[in-house]
Parts: sequence; structure tokens; C-alpha cells
Amino acid sequence: MTELNINDMLTSYDKKNLTIATVCSHSSLQIFNGARKEGFKTIGISVGEKRKYYDAFPLGKPDEFLIVDNYKDIFKYVDELKEKNAIIIPHGSFVEYLGADNFLKLDVPTFGNRNVLNWESDRNQERIWLEGAGLTMPEEIKNPKDIDKPVIVKYHGAKGGKGFFIAKTYDEFLRRIKKGKPYTIQEFVMGTRYYLHYFYSPIKEDAYKLSKGSLQLLSMDRRDETTIDEVQRLGSIAELEEIGIHPTFVVTGNIPIVMRESLLPKVFDMGAIVVEKSLELFGGIIGSFCLETVVTEELEFKVFEISARIVAGTNPYIFGSPYSELIQPDMSTGRRIAQEIKYAAKKNLLDKILT
Ligand code: AMP
Repeated sequence: MTELNINDMLTSYDKKNLTIATVCSHSSLQIFNGARKEGFKTIGISVGEKRKYYDAFPLGKPDEFLIVDNYKDIFKYVDELKEKNAIIIPHGSFVEYLGADNFLKLDVPTFGNRNVLNWESDRNQERIWLEGAGLTMPEEIKNPKDIDKPVIVKYHGAKGGKGFFIAKTYDEFLRRIKKGKPYTIQEFVMGTRYYLHYFYSPIKEDAYKLSKGSLQLLSMDRRDETTIDEVQRLGSIAELEEIGIHPTFVVTGNIPIVMRESLLPKVFDMGAIVVEKSLELFGGIIGSFCLETVVTEELEFKVFEISARIVAGTNPYIFGSPYSELIQPDMSTGRRIAQEIKYAAKKNLLDKILT
């Protein structure tokens, strides 16, 4: 639990003059662009000089830069950020580079519920949350000796799929596993992948209604992962493995996608039960989140992961997606976040969406 109190943090804030700050990476172009469209000033926290790169994208460039030597130095600028009435928009790289413990201690108002980290970063807690909500997750194989079908082995804390491998037998597992690194073994789910981008507002009732607030589906993507997604250009995986070449799962990009329309009601059911369970467990997931799913040939969803903030898969949709266009034209997730902050500031509800 964070010990920081959001109302204490906000006392000195001029609510009519908020700025939006994030780390210059991941989905920052989209976040700055969305904030700009909603009339906010923006601060780009950058490790090292990155101005030149942002100059190439004037509409995705922050109004000012805060240049730090490394991410932990952000702590030295807390007062400066607060003087500027800054609200931090966390994204995957922000949390990863700062470290979860530091992120929980950062004394600057932050969009979303930071307590979600305790549930998301530990795979056992994540399973308690998602299965407790009623989602189906890939089966977990506790003992590697029980491997009797394709599995994916995931090292704890590994980001972007780094080091993950597929094994089909116990022998193969033994050959590939790196000693001393904690791991989880999951059934490798056969099907097609969809990464679903939701937005939950605890303070607005104008979308898919929940017990409190409402839910939107803003977009979806499929990740492009090297080398698994193109390895077949060289030969079948089995052929390649025989000569010692193993596929890897490192994310390099994102591909826009839509889903057959008859599956959308299930998509909303899943988002809804995840939010309802989060309200029960830790006060609710707030704002953007993503369910990472595989749809099987029986048209069932298996959810292998949740990301509790804006994901890079929303980046193809800076000008809206086929779903967000049906809510409001030209609305990215970054812009939706800015709108939520603007609305909450106006209605004096900032403490309901920031921690
Ligand atoms: P993760 O770090 O859990 O998001 O996993 C990285 C990548 O591995 C995903 O984007 C998928 O391509 C793949 N993956 C993860 N879990 C599974 C699973 N249970 N079945 C099939 N593919 C998976």
C-alpha cells in the first residue's frame, strides 16, 4: 500500500493550471499529443538529452523537458514537479525503470491506483485477482516433470518476453532452463492473440455501466514479437530447434487489429469482472488497462496477463481506433486520460482518479 495521501499531495495544487508529465519513452508521444489536444501543458522527463528526437514530432513534443541523469534522480525534482502542478502519467517503461518500490514512494500525484502494482507484479497475486474475477487463465504447470504438452516458461520480472522459451517435454525444459532464476510454467495456449485496451472511469457513467463508474473499450492490438512472429521465414520451429535456433518473444512493435464483432460482448464481460474484483480487492484499477488474451478455436478467451496502465499497443491509434471513433472522433488513450483529468479537476474529483 502507498503511504502517500493524495489529498495532502494536492493541497498546494492550482487545479486550473495542471500540467501532465511523463517519461520520454514508451507511449509519451501519444500522451503529450493527447494532453495538448485537451489544452494541458506538458513536461517530458528525459534521461539524457532527447530534444532533437522530439523536434521531429512537433505535435508529440512536450512543452518543456526535465532532463535527469537517471530515473532515480526524478526524486530530486519532486518539488519542482509539484510547483508546476504536475500529474504523472505512468507507463510500462516508467514503472520498470524507476522500480516498483520507488514508484510507490514518488510523492507526486499520479494517474491511476498505484496499489495495483502489488497485484500485478507478482504472478501469484495476479492469478488470485484474475481467476477470482472469473477469467480463464492458461493452466499453470507446477512441476516441470508434468509437462506433457507445449508450455511457455516465463522468468519472473522479465520484461517484454525476454528469455521466455517454449518446451514440449521435460527433457527440453531441462536443456533450456537457466538455473537459479525463478520462473513460471504455463500451458502454451494455441489460438490468436488480442491485446484489449480498456479505460475504466470510476467517476463517469456514460459508457458500459458497472457497479461504480463505467468502462470503455478504446482499441486492441497484436504485438509483434521477435523472433517468434517471423521465424517461419527461415523454416519451421521444429526444424530450427534441431539446429539450436530457438524462437524468442521480445516485443518490437504493435499491429492494429479488430475482432469479430460477436466476441465484443465477451470482451466487455471480461473487463467488467476484472474491474469489479479490483474494487473489492484494492479499491479499483483506475483508467487504462490491458488484458492480454489468446482466443482459442472454441472462441474462448484465455487471459495470460494484465497491464494496469497505458500500454504501447495503443500507439497505432493516436488519431483514434475503429472502437474509439464510435465514442468520440480523434480520441487516443492518451487523450482519454487527459480528458479524465480535466473532468475530475472541474468536478473536484481528482482524488478519485489519482494516487
Ligand atoms: P507476457 O510477458 O506474459 O506478456 O508474454 C510475452 C509473450 O509471450 C506474449 O505477448 C505472447 O506472445 C506469449 N505468451 C505469453 N503467455 C502465453 C501463453 N500462455 N500461451 C501462448 N503464448 C503466450
